[in-house]
Amino acid sequence: MEPVLEFEQKEAKALRDEVIERSGQNLSACYQCRRCASACSVGDETGNLTPDRLIRMITTGDMEHALNNELVWKCVSCYACGTRCPNEIQTGRITETLKKMAKEKNLEPLNTKVAHFHHEFFNSGIRWGRVNEMEFMGFYEIKNFIDDIKNKNYNAIIDEIKTQSALAQKMVKQKRLHFGFTSAKGRKEIKKLLKKNTT
Ligand code: SF4
Ligand code: SF4
Repeated sequence: MEPVLEFEQKEAKALRDEVIERSGQNLSACYQCRRCASACSVGDETGNLTPDRLIRMITTGDMEHALNNELVWKCVSCYACGTRCPNEIQTGRITETLKKMAKEKNLEPLNTKVAHFHHEFFNSGIRWGRVNEMEFMGFYEIKNFIDDIKNKNYNAIIDEIKTQSALAQKMVKQKRLHFGFTSAKGRKEIKKLLKKNTT
């Protein structure tokens, strides 16, 4: 006998409607063709969780898994899935919305380091209208070190310092590391725009 998909219609509708409204993406148009699945840039990193499956979780009201999973935290907002989608659904906008909802519910992120990276990158953009690499990486690493100290994971601190130093040296050689500090013109407008698009 075929397994039956069971879900609470009321909860499913509430979750789907909230994500549709906040992300601006019409999830109801998804007919599970899976074209987005083969396009996902982080497909190798998220197990079998592909954009179509994330959408299915939302539409069936599986809030627990939809708000905290590898794809939500590892999505790089490249929009490759959206360019393949016949219904122009941008899963990158959906994952941003789910991250925000997860934070509002104070859920412990699946991957704390990725959550710190996202938080500091985004906040740097809001503060200055652009991301200042040294500032944002500094705050990101401070948060990681605090976590490692709390967990008495001192080897992780040493490993991180070694890894980041080696990476920094390579980037300096290739002139890819920017030490300057800049603030964008129209920073207040950028701040307003980012806040508007993330609420
Ligand atoms: S490509 Fe679009 S319609 Fe097809 S499964 Fe992905 S999101 Fe749904
Ligand atoms: S926007 Fe996110 S979900 Fe879509 S292809 Fe890129 S990484 Fe994958």
